[in-house]
Amino acid sequence: MLLAINSFNQYCFANLAHRSENYQCPACKKPVVLRQGQQNVAHFAHQVQTGCHAFTEGETIDHLLGKMALYQHFAKDYQVVVEPVLRQISQRPDLLVKRSQGKDLAIEYQCSPIGKKRLQERNQGLHSLGLEVMWVLGPDYYHRRLSGELTCRFLDDGRLFFYVPKQKRFETRFNFSKTDFHKLQYESRTGFGAAFLSAVKGKRPEKQFTLPSEINQIRLVGPTSDLAQHLLYQRTKLTLLMVQGRINLDLINYLYEQGHRLDQIPDWCLLGQAFGLAVPNWHFRLVLVLLLERVGLSHWISEKSLSARLRQYFYPSFQDQEKILQATYADLASSGVICLQDSKILVIKLLQFVAD
Ligand SMILES: [Zn+2]
Repeated sequence: MLLAINSFNQYCFANLAHRSENYQCPACKKPVVLRQGQQNVAHFAHQVQTGCHAFTEGETIDHLLGKMALYQHFAKDYQVVVEPVLRQISQRPDLLVKRSQGKDLAIEYQCSPIGKKRLQERNQGLHSLGLEVMWVLGPDYYHRRLSGELTCRFLDDGRLFFYVPKQKRFETRFNFSKTDFHKLQYESRTGFGAAFLSAVKGKRPEKQFTLPSEINQIRLVGPTSDLAQHLLYQRTKLTLLMVQGRINLDLINYLYEQGHRLDQIPDWCLLGQAFGLAVPNWHFRLVLVLLLERVGLSHWISEKSLSARLRQYFYPSFQDQEKILQATYADLASSGVICLQDSKILVIKLLQFVAD
């Protein structure tokens, strides 16, 4: 920990502390010792491992350095409490940023892996006190290729925040997109900049992340830059998966019963780039095509019931399901497949499966 209480009952930063003084843990009030040296970042540690629940021992140097850097970053503009003791929930976030208006912001600088359940508990605890939470990820996360699921866990208004102490590097990643058979794409910006500060201020980001709304605006990734080639590549990859037996048999059988083949799905199914889906884009789009086929030409379906069927294909924690759904409907409407009217959807054209 970076802060302890001295014999005058004042908070004291480890880098300003003296070995000759006595310090105690702000949470359990038991004695702590100052650790400093060439290799160490100055910090306090419990004299005896007493099972102080409010504080995790064995913080890494990265964690201490990151917490300190974040503190210095925000303390310029805000009143920031380091390692606040939140007794009601036995939690101690790394920082608490006091806002003049609205909810205060707890900042967690996460360096080690954290399970889905534990993350949820930490978030719930902080929310129960009326706090907002922001996660800033450390070097291990920064240097790894993060999965879609992991990215979703920490996503904050469509952005991920990182701090790498060794490089003194703040980074924001945003505009995530995922093309099937390609790695996750995103844009990044050095520094936390305006987006981060606006999040700290409790405002929506100035720029919403973009969504693929039109087929001809598709962001082509990988070796090809040509749409026809891209389609061929995607279809070949999909066929390969099928041949390798790596696609759910129920889906293949269902298609077969409908007189379709998976390797012949409409081109539109192969053009998705939505991020936030727990299944591939082609799968999500194919389900939508089949649902519309079941509704039938010149028939209506309410947007609400269609969306309800599609929501299960997203990661549950993904905040922008509605935006993706709307962008997908808009895409279908601009291709003349559906017509949207008063929250109802009319099927005006069925997307064709390709011929042999
Ligand atoms: Zn303690």
